[in-house]
Amino acid sequence: MTFINGILDGVAYRAARHIGGEITPTVVILHDTASSLKEGSAANYLRDNDAKVSVQFVIELSGHIEQQVPINRRANHAGASSYHGRKGCNNFTIGIELVNPGKMRAAGANGVTWFGKTIHDDHLRNLDLAETPEHGRGMWMHYPAEQLEALLWLLRKLFANVPTLMDIRPHWYVSPGRKVDTNPLFPLEQVRGHILGREDPADDEALAQSMDASPDDLVIIATNGDTLNMRRWPSFNPNIIAKIPDETVVPVLRRGTFDGRVWLQVFYAGQEGWVVANYADAVTFPAAH
Ligand SMILES: [Zn+2]
Repeated sequence: MTFINGILDGVAYRAARHIGGEITPTVVILHDTASSLKEGSAANYLRDNDAKVSVQFVIELSGHIEQQVPINRRANHAGASSYHGRKGCNNFTIGIELVNPGKMRAAGANGVTWFGKTIHDDHLRNLDLAETPEHGRGMWMHYPAEQLEALLWLLRKLFANVPTLMDIRPHWYVSPGRKVDTNPLFPLEQVRGHILGREDPADDEALAQSMDASPDDLVIIATNGDTLNMRRWPSFNPNIIAKIPDETVVPVLRRGTFDGRVWLQVFYAGQEGWVVANYADAVTFPAAH
């Protein structure tokens, strides 16, 4: 049993104060907490507050998942909302909150949150300016790989075990003009593509813009002692799937140029992924005598 009485086996469960009546969930709604990044801070608030808000799952930056409402009970996460004409999304959706500061005002390379806290763009946090029609312009924080991996794990569990689930949407999609979460850096179409089993546009693009390597094309990772990020797609979006140690020899499957930079699709640790070619040297064999 993966779910027992709507509670996911193997995940921390701490019951929220505001748990509503029974629901049949058909859609997953993704949120940002727009909160402090301190582990447990947003989860504690969502679990117990006077604002009557609640949510089924909270995912920390570290990837830690806490469940607070059973998946077959109503939580108060979406507010005024509409999905394809059906109003009141709390009555038929599962909410997942991702810890994230939400929309920030740019201050140089850093961001200032709505509650006045400065988030620094550094080795821990990765910030970028972005603007979309749905979000407006702002400074935003990338979702760490650990958090995205935990989200994908949770979504796979949900879609494998809840046959009524059909779709995954961000809060801004069901509350347009009122909400901007998840943020514009969230890899929404990739996540939807993976879980909903539809064609992944990023995969098609990567194939179309690259060429098969020769069968004996090998490279050695050359990062001067560091690991090299292997990514799901040839882009710097949050899509790291492995870290390849320095001096590892890997076979090259494809080569391509994306945004003016050469990327290699390699095979490492049982999976295919993309690395920046600058950090991989050709392996040459001494000529036979
Ligand atoms: Zn939200």
